[in-house]
Amino acid sequence: MNDVKSIELITKATDPIYIGTGGYTIGRVDNTIVRDPISHIPKIPGTSLAGTWRYFMALQLQSYFKDEYRSDRKKRGEDYHSIKEKQEKDNKNDMNIKFLFFDKKEDGWWNCIDGNRFAALNCAGQDDFPNMKIMEDLNDEKPRHCGQCIVCKSFGFSKSDKSAQGLLSFTDLNILFFPVYTRKGTMWITSESILQEGGLIQSKHAKEEEAIFVNENFEGGDFLNLGWINLPMKKQNLTFKIPNGCELASNQIVIVPDHLISQIINSNLEVRTSVSIDPNTGAAKDGALFTSEAIPRTTVFYGKIHIFERSELNHKNICNALCDSKQYYESLGIGGMTTRGFGRMKVQLNCIGGNDEKHRCCDQ
Ligand SMILES: [Zn+2]
Repeated sequence: MNDVKSIELITKATDPIYIGTGGYTIGRVDNTIVRDPISHIPKIPGTSLAGTWRYFMALQLQSYFKDEYRSDRKKRGEDYHSIKEKQEKDNKNDMNIKFLFFDKKEDGWWNCIDGNRFAALNCAGQDDFPNMKIMEDLNDEKPRHCGQCIVCKSFGFSKSDKSAQGLLSFTDLNILFFPVYTRKGTMWITSESILQEGGLIQSKHAKEEEAIFVNENFEGGDFLNLGWINLPMKKQNLTFKIPNGCELASNQIVIVPDHLISQIINSNLEVRTSVSIDPNTGAAKDGALFTSEAIPRTTVFYGKIHIFERSELNHKNICNALCDSKQYYESLGIGGMTTRGFGRMKVQLNCIGGNDEKHRCCDQ
């Protein structure tokens, strides 16, 4: 019987985030970002998330073949520094050592799944040889999805003899709290619909008011400006619990009417104007002025990851694999222009519901 577990995903941008639509112009912006077609609010699509995470998990798994093994070996009472050292000691070939590492199973040890001995960096990205069989020979080094490792099984693979849908499913990351500059400093806006979608509140007020709501301890007059728009402000006890990973206090939050939030977000995006550089002169190239928009840093996103339990991989293995690889979002980032100061974010995974099976991230 298949079983589905869900994890709540909270991410907070530490850089502006640019996920382009690929050549589509709105108004004065040349390089536009992905938006929800109904609300017109920018988002991070689940496809971007799944693609990057697959790569990060493969990267993390490969790192265990290297020096990082030292601490893990120590845990098992086998003190050597690297595969190479072990190889010299035992005079065995590399592939056998890889086999030895992954032969030892421990509960929750995601990197000790049997099939991981076939894993390579090519298990991420596009499969170059989808018409070949799954990998069964350790000496076969054709760059492709191996179809055996935790990366291939979690994210899916398709080979000529066998294919499997991934055990992971990612939702889009939608904006939960969006930073806006006000006369009282930066405030993070949200709306009742967004809070309900994120499971923070159960029901909305029956009648939508033309006012914004702040927490009762917020100090300020009767109006607050959100960027250029000045709105009447009411105080209320904001009772919902702010999820782990948001790093916000309740008096930094403003609830705006559902029909206004898209307008306010879209008029407070980061818009940059750039020029292309002429490689011959090193100066700006004529007629090469372009603008790009991005979701500003400190925006908080909300999403979910569903994990299907099937075969020898359990919920814990996959959770731990996600936890151990999420740190790459803080260095390599997501989306476009990551070499130009875009795309970094902090990722938090929170268990939903009963904490009977806590994973690494929730133990922190
Ligand atoms: Zn693989």
